[in-house]
Amino acid sequence: MGGLTGRTALVTGASRGIGRGIARRLARDGALVAVHYASGESEAKETAALIGEEGGRAFTVRADLAETDQTAELFRVMEREFTERTGSSALDILVNNAAYGGRPALPEDVTVELMDQYLAVNARAPLLVAQRALKLMRSGGRIVNISSGITRSAQPDMIAYAMSKGVLEQLTLHLARHVADRGITVNSVAPGRTDNGSPLFSNPAAVARMAELSAFKRVGQVEDIADVVAFVASDDARWITGSFIDATGGTLLG
Ligand code: NAP
Repeated sequence: MGGLTGRTALVTGASRGIGRGIARRLARDGALVAVHYASGESEAKETAALIGEEGGRAFTVRADLAETDQTAELFRVMEREFTERTGSSALDILVNNAAYGGRPALPEDVTVELMDQYLAVNARAPLLVAQRALKLMRSGGRIVNISSGITRSAQPDMIAYAMSKGVLEQLTLHLARHVADRGITVNSVAPGRTDNGSPLFSNPAAVARMAELSAFKRVGQVEDIADVVAFVASDDARWITGSFIDATGGTLLG
């Protein structure tokens, strides 16, 4: 029996990368996991299948989080699935992990369209998802926002992405105060360069450059982040709320 047995979780952007790693870890700890995706249906089904092979329980839910009207459908499906499987639509853990990766653009080159997309997916959607999640969330609930070390270390060509993650950290701070009387915690976990399975991480020269950034001289693995999220989601982290948790492998030490 894992520490999350009897709990339910929603992990956004769990079709691949860090989100998949988080979904697998929470399921291994006993949670029934809603594996959210936008376009990667087969990848999300693969996440759910991997969880099943590991003895866990999961199902998939779809929503393009840039489209505000799709959040309602995500929750309709998730609540139905939770109720069928547990007899209740209650939610215990929300991990706001989905993000628009976008493309580098120097401050003078950031377009309105690029900025809007970053803000829609990385900043507005986590609030809209949290609003609905909080209607279902039990005492002892957890909201974990996946931010980035880039909010603490300047990289001018990533200014738009970094701004969107800065907004997400404000969601953590202010929401944490608001829901504390319900016994719910809200925290930000900030990865550094983490191998999410994208082609960049098959390029040895690029990996060597990224590894140099970490105090441990390697890039992060999804498990490095998933293990931190699992702790924040556990009962052991009940006294931590409103925090920025540096999970960059010491990148911010400089
Ligand atoms: P990733 O591999 O690029 O996966 C992104 C996930 O977000 C996918 O599941 C994708 O779903 C989903 N997504 C993208 N646009 C969406 C939209 N409009 N609506 C709904 N879902 C959407 O990401 P990752 O690298 O694992 O990163 C995970 C989190 O860690 C993100 O918040 C990211 O900002 C943060 N982070 C990552 C790194 C890193 O080095 N990897 C570093 C710092 C922070 P579909 O594929 O189904 O469309």
